[in-house]
Amino acid sequence: MQIAIDGPAGSGKTSVARALAQHFGCLFVNTGAMYRAVALALSQGRKLSEIQIEVRPDERILLNGQDVTEQLYTPEIDELASQTATRPEVREFLITQQRALAQHRDVVMEGRDIGSVVLPDADVKLYLDASPEERARRRCHERPQQSYQEVLAQIRARDKRDGQGFGRLQIAPETIVIHTDHKSLNEVIALAISAVASALQRRNISGKLSQ
Ligand code: C5P
Repeated sequence: MQIAIDGPAGSGKTSVARALAQHFGCLFVNTGAMYRAVALALSQGRKLSEIQIEVRPDERILLNGQDVTEQLYTPEIDELASQTATRPEVREFLITQQRALAQHRDVVMEGRDIGSVVLPDADVKLYLDASPEERARRRCHERPQQSYQEVLAQIRARDKRDGQGFGRLQIAPETIVIHTDHKSLNEVIALAISAVASALQRRNISGKLSQ
């Protein structure tokens, strides 16, 4: 079973994807973390051909065998990952690995292009949306050292870049869109679980689920 979750930065898709993976007993793959790890490696002077990324079931990310998870969520890597992700060779490198991770396994894969490019045949496709202002407010909770105006400006810049070129954010056909403004995380998770459960029932693959 493959569940694809896409959406812009700060839409809550990581928390929702993690909750869905736990609920339905799937491997959670956060593809943004993979782009972040590549950006970190390139900034350290490594070539793409020298980069090995491992996504562990406990969400730790190993770069050439070293756990770099703590280094991936800084304003610098936010920016670098978004720039690096516009390079076609980087996308090809990671998309191949993402498809391999989803083969012969139940996965919840989260990113920007999962339903449209990486797993176009996913059993369920979700898209989480929220206004830039709401997303900036949420990011400020995670990054209290940054001001609201600074975070909002970064989100708008990333939206602009993520909306263009290769891997641009797009809503694939047959996607269930959930608008998350003015909803708590728990409300969004409940909506997502019930949307996935009914979609799977319609596709008659509920027998595959662990719950
Ligand atoms: O989701 P997250 O903010 O961690 O992703 C970091 C960056 O990686 C995004 O800004 C986006 O540019 C890029 N990305 C992508 N395609 C994905 C996941 C992330 O281009 N599937």
